[in-house]
Amino acid sequence: MIKLYNTMSRRKEDFVPVEPGKVSMYVCGPTVYNYIHIGNARPMIFFDTVRRYFEYRGYEVRYVSNFTDVDDKIIKEALKEGVDSSVISERYIAECKKDMSGMNVEPATVNPLATQEIDGMIDMISTLIEKGYAYEVDGTVYFRVRRFRNYGSLSGKNLDDLRSGFRDLKVTGEEQKEDPLDFVLWKPKKEGEPYWESPWSQGRPGWHIECSVMSKKYLGEQIDIHGGGEDLIFPHHENEIAQSEAASGRTFAKYWMHNAFLMVDKIKMSKSLGNFFTVREVASKYDLEVLRFFMLSAQYRSPLNFSEEQMEQAKSGLERIQSAGQRLKELTEHAPEIPMTEEEAAAGQSFIASFEEAMDDDFNTAVAEAAVFDLVKYANTNAPSMGRAQAKDLFDKLLKMTDILGIAAVKEQGLLEEDIIKLIDERTEARKQKNWARADQIRNELSAKGIILEDTKDGVKWKKA
Ligand code: AMP
Ligand code: ZN
Repeated sequence: MIKLYNTMSRRKEDFVPVEPGKVSMYVCGPTVYNYIHIGNARPMIFFDTVRRYFEYRGYEVRYVSNFTDVDDKIIKEALKEGVDSSVISERYIAECKKDMSGMNVEPATVNPLATQEIDGMIDMISTLIEKGYAYEVDGTVYFRVRRFRNYGSLSGKNLDDLRSGFRDLKVTGEEQKEDPLDFVLWKPKKEGEPYWESPWSQGRPGWHIECSVMSKKYLGEQIDIHGGGEDLIFPHHENEIAQSEAASGRTFAKYWMHNAFLMVDKIKMSKSLGNFFTVREVASKYDLEVLRFFMLSAQYRSPLNFSEEQMEQAKSGLERIQSAGQRLKELTEHAPEIPMTEEEAAAGQSFIASFEEAMDDDFNTAVAEAAVFDLVKYANTNAPSMGRAQAKDLFDKLLKMTDILGIAAVKEQGLLEEDIIKLIDERTEARKQKNWARADQIRNELSAKGIILEDTKDGVKWKKA
């Protein structure tokens, strides 16, 4: 049984899906006005791992994650560059997808774009107005927070405290609100901004309504899991709950999951603080698989500090796993054909059992990674006397675990073109020196890596086997 921590109930609960055998998950995606930073990558990597684990456990997963492609920050960036805001959002969606692919984050079942879902937003806002949960003033539509009884249940905030806080810092232009807690569902355009027609004004939706609408459209009125970083609990997720439940009259999400922050020098990494690294920057130094492995080295509800030292540790850990993977793979082909003993079978089973136990316990990837290292250590110790059956068993188990974590069990050992050319030049030189042994050795080495050499009168040609 998978247990997960539900932010709503503030405790770990058994996972029981709305529909048996199926999981519907919505995870709030990035606002696309720049390259994503590695703080944004934490929910991407973590929830991708959650999805993989549910699939491993036999669930059919529908995973939806949006791109917020209309927003003040995108408009600001567009004005700065003198282009349409769609140029900015399209560019950074494409870049974000490249980063995701580098981090082995599988494409979601659907990646909806806010700008493609405006009709649905207008429908939901109209419903909220009809039901008395929203009101319009001068083209702006607000959600009437005091009408929604459960407001504050996710974040556990006291509404009176919130109200008095707001009163002190009244935002100009928002005096027309009935209550300082009321939030925007639709706002009129300002000069030069992108806009859509609506019954209230030419304008655009507020941020919160996007997710309520996209989640409903692609997953239905009630979903299993809604996720995101913990900064989204208030107000974003609180507001999503208010909108969705006021409109449908049903519980919106059964489980709310929130990852803690990625930190740098003990401070949250964020664009506004400027203390961030983009995934792209990290990619120039490390394989993004290392970033993924690092990200999963902590339980997702614990803050995780990013540092060079931690990344180096993740890198060598990953190398240790992959060299053991390589060794096991070779043993599956070359080890003596002796049957596996009962103890050997039990040892293999114990690693996968600890891995599953860790993942069942609120997706504890830190302990799951430790189970992988236990398997690796055992494999390295026993490799010299290992039979083929056991090698196959351990390799198969290692593959299962690394697939769930989204890392490779064996590094592809492809040669770079420049390395091939270097070796060919060295071989030509060796032949000139009549060093036939070295020349043959190079030919064999290349052939083992799938590179075939052909000596022609115009020199050496090579091709991949
Ligand atoms: P944003 O583009 O700021 O809306 O963020 C997209 C996602 O990244 C949200 O789920 C945020 O909660 C998450 N996020 C942003 N910064 C961090 C961070 N430093 N650590 C973990 N998650 C973050
Ligand atoms: Zn959202």
